[in-house]
Amino acid sequence: MEKAYKFRIYPNKKQEELIQKTFGCCRFVYNYYLAKRIESYKQDKTDFNYYACSADLTKLKMNLKWLKEVDSQALGKSLKDLDNAYKNFFKHEAGFPKFKSKKRNKKTYRTSFIRNNIRISNNNIQLPKLGLVKCKISRQIEGRILNATVSQNPSGKYYVSICCANVEIPKLEKTGAVVGIDLGIKEFGITSDGEHIENPKYLRKSEMKLAKLQRKLSRKSIGSNNSSKARIKVARQYEKITNQRKDFLHKLSTQLIREYDVICIEDLKVENMVKNHNLAKSINDVSWGEFVRQLQYKAEWYGKTIQKINTFYASSQTCNVCGYKNSEVKDLAIREWECPECHAKHDRDENASMNILNEGLRLLA
Ligand SMILES: [Zn+2]
Repeated sequence: MEKAYKFRIYPNKKQEELIQKTFGCCRFVYNYYLAKRIESYKQDKTDFNYYACSADLTKLKMNLKWLKEVDSQALGKSLKDLDNAYKNFFKHEAGFPKFKSKKRNKKTYRTSFIRNNIRISNNNIQLPKLGLVKCKISRQIEGRILNATVSQNPSGKYYVSICCANVEIPKLEKTGAVVGIDLGIKEFGITSDGEHIENPKYLRKSEMKLAKLQRKLSRKSIGSNNSSKARIKVARQYEKITNQRKDFLHKLSTQLIREYDVICIEDLKVENMVKNHNLAKSINDVSWGEFVRQLQYKAEWYGKTIQKINTFYASSQTCNVCGYKNSEVKDLAIREWECPECHAKHDRDENASMNILNEGLRLLA
């Protein structure tokens, strides 16, 4: 099994400069070869592919000496990322690759493990070109190191994420229990066992504080000293929320994976939902996407099953007892209803989660 370990790193001034330079060079290589691939296609409909880019990069480094100052593996990975972006585009899984910008894109680069170039020793990590970087190692890493990703978040902190292969994870014992979960808007979700999962209150508080800081920032004039201070405050608060939310989702997903062998859930297209401009809703959407992601990899780790249900399945409107479809329930304001056919009384969300479970088990059978 593959597993990633993320640690905070504390580069010194010189290392920080080199990290920033590497971010920039990786972005440059990505954009340079994206332009080249576009140009080559325009000129004679040929594809300047990954291997052509790689060979060309070797030549380019002779002319642009500053590219030699940074980790060459990282530049290679940047080409690989570009190639993957092309592949995803051809598979119709993503739009056409976009140029990376210093402002918009996350500051990050990835490097591979070769000849023991990435090593962890007490409170330090050895990274290519950077040497020993001070690192807060919060847990023991296992398995064989594949690669490392260095990143900087918007508030300025640096991290390294080490991806390892062959990590042994003991399977969890089977419980024989199955569950359907209806993800909600007011509550985080409702299970077919009738359990209501609340959004944590501290999260709501932090979100309100973020909204307040954002309003303050919008009143500052752009480019002023005060505005950049306010921007850092917003970034820090955003980071706090991200961490709190991840923490909540990790606890919840682990608990569910322990309790149930099969978890049925709606297959939400998060990319489409995030475009929604309602803040509370969009935060929820991001949470759901992350939640499903965690459930899936934990299920794989621990030998459990996640079954996704098509969103077109009318989970709210169908009576889970007799299967009658009541289109009146489309109205979101209806929280409770009685089935006109079998007269079963339903709580909207509990009924939906039971339908999700039934449909999931039907698909599995
Ligand atoms: Zn019914």
